[in-house]
Amino acid sequence: MFNDLKDKRVLITGSTKGIGLATAQAFARAGAKVGLNGHRNDPSLQSLAKEVAALGGEVEYFAADLTNTAQCQQLVEAFVERFGGLDVLINNTGGLVGRKPLSDIDDEFYQQVMDLNARSALMVTKFAIPHLRSAAKQSGETTSVISTGSIAGREGGGPGASIYAASKAWLHNMNRHWVKEFTKDNIRFNVVSPGTIDTVFHADKTQEVRDKISSGIAMGRFGTSEELAPSYLFFASHACSGYITGQILDVNGGQMAP
Ligand code: NAD
Repeated sequence: MFNDLKDKRVLITGSTKGIGLATAQAFARAGAKVGLNGHRNDPSLQSLAKEVAALGGEVEYFAADLTNTAQCQQLVEAFVERFGGLDVLINNTGGLVGRKPLSDIDDEFYQQVMDLNARSALMVTKFAIPHLRSAAKQSGETTSVISTGSIAGREGGGPGASIYAASKAWLHNMNRHWVKEFTKDNIRFNVVSPGTIDTVFHADKTQEVRDKISSGIAMGRFGTSEELAPSYLFFASHACSGYITGQILDVNGGQMAP
């Protein structure tokens, strides 16, 4: 399975830890050419790229702060220069930024959350489309954009996470629009929508809160990043999902069944 991912050129935004890193590791094991990304320019991240490459693929780290449109463009250009094209884009960068009730939300907070979760995916996709289009034309197979959505985008989000949840719903719907605009170019668009996954995203939670959340999940526990990764491989593989586009795959241990 996933044999067709060997040598595929895969850019994964927000992939220095958590879900993005586990997904990068899975693509490397499948023999893909993987671009890691984070906002920090730190030598330890070049070493991380080497560690991931040891799993089987070819891997390079690209620092870019994706809340900045110029850096979204630079990221795509640097990846394409390094690997000669782009077959799969994974829009994974995202985060809460903070938790605020409506009474505390100001323009700055709104902008930060939307830039991190919505604008980053919008602009990276914009600059990636010409490369995905030409890779699809050359190969005669579909290329793929996969975005990380969220259960919050389905059900409104946890305490103080209203803008975050709305930004993920925005992303879910943007995915539907991109299907209408770019299916003619043989590009597919799908969303992986995680439930509650055990990453630093939940570092602010006490054990008591974690237990309460777990009790509301049919499987009774948080998911792991490793349990998320194969869903991205599935959507990236033309052989596995060449006729699947515009979908949202909920990976949430039964926390919600939309
Ligand atoms: P994480 O905090 O472990 O990883 C976030 C990644 O994004 C890191 O690699 C970080 O370097 C990168 N990043 C942060 N700011 C950036 C910026 N300005 N520019 C570029 N990269 C930046 O988070 P995670 O839990 O692995 O989350 C990954 C994705 O999954 C996010 O989109 C998140 O919203 C989504 N998600 C997570 C959960 C969960 O329970 N963990 C649930 C639903 C959705």
